[in-house]
Amino acid sequence: MGIIVQKFGGTSVANSQLILSAARKAIRAHQEGHQVVMVVSAMGKNTDYLIELAHEVNEVPPTREMDMLLSTGEQVSVALMAMAIDSLGYKAVSLTGGQIGIRTDSSHTKARIKSISTERVRKLLNEGNIVIAAGFQGIDENFDITTLGRGGSDTTAVALAAVLEADACEIYTDVDGVYTTDPRILPEARLTRQVSYDEMLELASLGAGVMHSRSIEFGKKFNVPIHVRSSLSDVPGSLIVKEPESPGAVVSGAALTKDEARISLLSLTNSPEVSLKIFEPIAQQKITVDMIAQSATENGKANLCFTVPRAEMAATLKILRPVVLSLGGEIGQCSDQVSKVSVVGLGMARAVGVADRMFHALAQAAINMQMITTSEIKISALVDRNEALRALRTVHEEFGLHLTPENAVTDPFSSLSNRREKVAAIEVISRLQGVDMEGLTIDDIALDDKQSRLTFLGLPNRSGIASRIFREFAKQEIFVDMIVQNYVDSDASDVSITVPRKLFSQAMKISQDLASEWKPCSVSGNEKIGKLSVSGIGLRSHTGMAITMFRALANQGVNLEMINTSEVRVNAVVDEAFAKAGLAALRADFAGALR
Ligand code: ADP
Ligand code: ASP
Ligand code: MG
Repeated sequence: MGIIVQKFGGTSVANSQLILSAARKAIRAHQEGHQVVMVVSAMGKNTDYLIELAHEVNEVPPTREMDMLLSTGEQVSVALMAMAIDSLGYKAVSLTGGQIGIRTDSSHTKARIKSISTERVRKLLNEGNIVIAAGFQGIDENFDITTLGRGGSDTTAVALAAVLEADACEIYTDVDGVYTTDPRILPEARLTRQVSYDEMLELASLGAGVMHSRSIEFGKKFNVPIHVRSSLSDVPGSLIVKEPESPGAVVSGAALTKDEARISLLSLTNSPEVSLKIFEPIAQQKITVDMIAQSATENGKANLCFTVPRAEMAATLKILRPVVLSLGGEIGQCSDQVSKVSVVGLGMARAVGVADRMFHALAQAAINMQMITTSEIKISALVDRNEALRALRTVHEEFGLHLTPENAVTDPFSSLSNRREKVAAIEVISRLQGVDMEGLTIDDIALDDKQSRLTFLGLPNRSGIASRIFREFAKQEIFVDMIVQNYVDSDASDVSITVPRKLFSQAMKISQDLASEWKPCSVSGNEKIGKLSVSGIGLRSHTGMAITMFRALANQGVNLEMINTSEVRVNAVVDEAFAKAGLAALRADFAGALR
């Protein structure tokens, strides 16, 4: 039998009894004939406690010292785990990230894994040991200790499973598996049997804290099946693999990001450099920008709205004041009392009317959406913070997420060993040689020139408006692809959509009829647009990627008409006249990351 990686999170090793119980799980797997590698997190809330302590002595602790401090949490757990296994009569050796040879870059507190050596672990396993690896940590080229970011032990576990070509990677945690939404927020959430990598990537980055999203990037890149299960019960849990739970389901999960802030910039002088000028200085401060909506007004001006984590609002505004001034614009109404509600599902890429259902359900519940962004497999809406929970419950119910979907897999674990065999070992290894394990990988850079854009300018900013628009489109079976709603002020919002080009006039007619009901709303459109898309792995976690894209397009003098981002794809809409040059620029800039 092969290698099995078992990861235990903080709550699963919070005291000595739990450590002994985790030790027994590893021993059981060892007795069954597996070679066992455990990955262990810091006990309970130890990492939180260490962070608090650091802030008591220094408001802005140096990040190198922070990593030195935080890595001790995991060191305590691995040593205790090895002692526990020894006390039960089995051989075990604990190793720090450095001792294993987990090499990372030097970005302290959010380091990325470059490579992992396997010799020492393999030798210890072959000598009959259970190997216990400290999660969440590595060393950089100066042998300084680094950490991978909060929740990073999941990433250690999946990365180790990839390089060791493990048969399974089991993530033991304090819930029974991956639910349709956080079961601690919505008790009616359903335990899923299976989730696809792409869905889990989106859900994790949209607020489903059960898995560190970078661990799913590893899972997808190296084809590691990830089995999430409870350390406290024997429920089978959920499997994260390539395929979704049910081929028929349009939505498979929902998530909430509670603490967001909305930044609204108005009347910026529109030019190809606008996005670059705004987002580059923010990215330099390592602030992650999320939902982005931009709309061009008639007089050569642009309104731009985006979200950042709530805690970063003040810092973002400070950076932006001089930039906005230089672009002749102003900072509009911003708010740190907003939350993002999202639904995710592979099936929505093919279905008409998914957005319509979400917006209609929210409208029925009288919840106003301040911003909307979509990607092929997710729809996010920004709502008032006070209404966030109700919004999550509303969409969860609308898509029947509490019910098992039709044609769902019944026993995903039965075929697990077959799936693993399908992954030619040689392929995994060749992909690992000499490459940066966690580097950005681009699968494809493409141009879709079969769509048109429509923009509603100055829509009333109240619940039910977006829903009306999408109802009409769904009624006439017009597939709306990209949707972006931009917050202008408390009275007005702009909505841009893309539709199939052959239906442009029909769509324009519907839009104008609707707009006439909402005076002074107007509709503009561009029949010939090009939708440029870059798809791959790590697109959002590599924050510099969007900036590279903005720069490549700005250098070609290309005006961005719409943009949307997801974990696996970034789409930018430009006028068709610029599309080919834009495509060539993107291909040249990302040549190094294409696989
Ligand atoms: P660990 O310490 O084991 O790494 P975490 O606290 O990081 O555990 O992750 C488990 C928690 O993730 C659960 O207690 C649950 O509240 C939360 N969670 C958020 N979204 C989901 C979801 N979709 N399914 C399951 N758990 C979720
Ligand atoms: N101990 C670290 C944290 O609390 C890493 C982890 O638990 O995954 O973030
Ligand atoms: Mg975790």
